[in-house]
Amino acid sequence: MTEARQVIVVGSGPAGLTAAIYASRAQLSPLVIEGELSSTSDQPGGQLMLTTEVENYPGFVKGIMGPELMVAFREQAARFGTDYVTAKVSRVDLSARPFRLWVGDPGAAEPTYTADALIVATGAKSLMLNLPNEERLLGYGVSTCATCDGFFFRGQDIAVVGGGDSALEEALFLTRFADKVTLIHRRGELRASKVMQQRAIDNPKVDFLWHSTVIDVMGDTKVSGIRVRNVETGDETEMALSGLFVAIGHLPNTGLFVDQLDMEDNGYLKTLGTTTYTNVEGVFACGDVQDHRYRQAITAAGSGCMAAIDAERWLEDQAASGH
Ligand code: NAP
Repeated sequence: MTEARQVIVVGSGPAGLTAAIYASRAQLSPLVIEGELSSTSDQPGGQLMLTTEVENYPGFVKGIMGPELMVAFREQAARFGTDYVTAKVSRVDLSARPFRLWVGDPGAAEPTYTADALIVATGAKSLMLNLPNEERLLGYGVSTCATCDGFFFRGQDIAVVGGGDSALEEALFLTRFADKVTLIHRRGELRASKVMQQRAIDNPKVDFLWHSTVIDVMGDTKVSGIRVRNVETGDETEMALSGLFVAIGHLPNTGLFVDQLDMEDNGYLKTLGTTTYTNVEGVFACGDVQDHRYRQAITAAGSGCMAAIDAERWLEDQAASGH
């Protein structure tokens, strides 16, 4: 049986849940299709589920843990009548209204849900290095999540790849467990914010390996070392270590919408001007899936609020014009 909803939100990070808070307070009884549990950021609550301390979300003088913040978002939306389904959308058809969404078998004749308005808040996921043995050793020493896996590296030597805030945050967090954390960056200058740079430089457990890329990760059943190339000299060296954390940025989760929603060259969804309108009327996009510039919890939450207001006004206009 297909279930018809007024508003469906796909994704449950700060953008999706803020959209749900606003849509439920506008009495639109939204359904949030929140994703499924996983060890990556592709899970209910999104990327903040893999974060420890969030110090820059306004209102929390002493900071708050990422997962705790997302539980609060979720409960706040539930309080006003948001429904949740813990599943992933497997297919969407945006060619006609109401929009059609499948959960489970994407080949099923009938969709699982229809939605008069759709809010896309599917976020972004970690980029990988695409090394020969990286995928095989993922979960066996290769990780994209320090908060998930840091505990396993007590007293060991590990490396983090990347030069942005994520890499530094991971490296600093990992110093709680590891003896030594080598930060491997392909340039001689970090992209991360100055405050994070200073913290990493000041931390005696963090070493920097500049102008270097990882070209392979070694190990039979678990990571035993990596091969590193100096991009200036071409020299290749091996480093013995037991963990490799990849923190080199993200890709938007837009696979469901290929050939249906307009995207930038880098795969992020296009939105119209300063609104959350996509090229399909009635479909709104918010958060990291459409933002490759700011990518903050607070900006994602802000755009989730905008998407709910855009959807509410659009639905009102539709009703007023007899559609
Ligand atoms: P990012 O800022 O895009 O940084 C990615 C880093 O990975 C860059 O240093 C990049 O090198 C490197 N890189 C990319 N591809 C690579 C490859 N194939 N091999 C080796 N290195 C590669 O991504 P991010 O650190 O995930 O941060 C994303 C956004 O979230 C940023 O706006 C950041 O400020 C924000 N953020 C904030 C916090 C916080 O405030 N606490 C925490 C995490 C993230 P290049 O520098 O050479 O390009």
